[in-house]
Amino acid sequence: MRNVLITGGSRGIGAAVVRKFAAAGDRVYFTYLHSEEKARALATETGATALRADAACREDTEAAIRQAEGEGGVLDVLVLNAGISHVGMIMDTGDEDFRRVMETNVYGPFAAMRAALPGMFWRRSGCIVTISSIWGQRGASCEAVYSASKAAVIALTQAAALEAAGAGVRVNCVAPGAIDTEMNDHLPKAEKDALSEEIPLGRMGTPEEVADVIFFLCGDGARYITGNVIPVNGGWRT
Ligand code: NDP
Repeated sequence: MRNVLITGGSRGIGAAVVRKFAAAGDRVYFTYLHSEEKARALATETGATALRADAACREDTEAAIRQAEGEGGVLDVLVLNAGISHVGMIMDTGDEDFRRVMETNVYGPFAAMRAALPGMFWRRSGCIVTISSIWGQRGASCEAVYSASKAAVIALTQAAALEAAGAGVRVNCVAPGAIDTEMNDHLPKAEKDALSEEIPLGRMGTPEEVADVIFFLCGDGARYITGNVIPVNGGWRT
């Protein structure tokens, strides 16, 4: 039974990851910020433990990691999923928008890695998966700050993988394309349909399809994979 912590597990991709690891019999902890009811319902459904922790807050993050490490003092799996988007042209994006996105999407994974890696190094094992985006591989119009934050996640992952490989710790990144979650709820149906037509597999992805890849990356079948960015995008190239 592995000790697993997933950030941002109350909804969307994170909730699918919680379900996946819980179904495999792992000891699962997940964080949330605003969606308390959903977090409680998911905890009841899966047996996972919900922890209220703001990914952008050092104290919250460190407390969540200490709790998930348990008495053994180490995490086996850390999935850094919590993230927010901001839609708007650069000229309409304020400093506060920039700060909020960067603190959640970049500082969050950094602070969590910093807190979890000492235990993983000590035990000489562990697995971390970050979540970037297709927009971190190629910037999106009207999502400049989000794109920049997700590009930073890729570099953070690659650097962490190099630092951690000698200690037997693997760090990989998943870069989803368009996944049908609340994050994309602002898109009108017509826009979602047009988007689906652009995607070679003809549809948006599901949270479960991303969770499956994350689960694989944390398993023995991926033991020779580290420092990589795995696209989960239905063949979509922008
Ligand atoms: P959702 O908006 O559906 O869910 C976001 C999750 O992150 C929620 O559980 C939310 O918790 C949590 N969260 C947000 N901010 C914080 C915070 N400060 N502290 C703790 N938890 C937080 O997003 P998705 O499931 O779609 O996205 C998950 C990840 O995948 C994100 O990193 C996103 O950037 C990335 N991604 C998504 C794509 C998509 O098309 N959907 C495409 C590419 C990447 P709560 O509601 O409790 O605040």
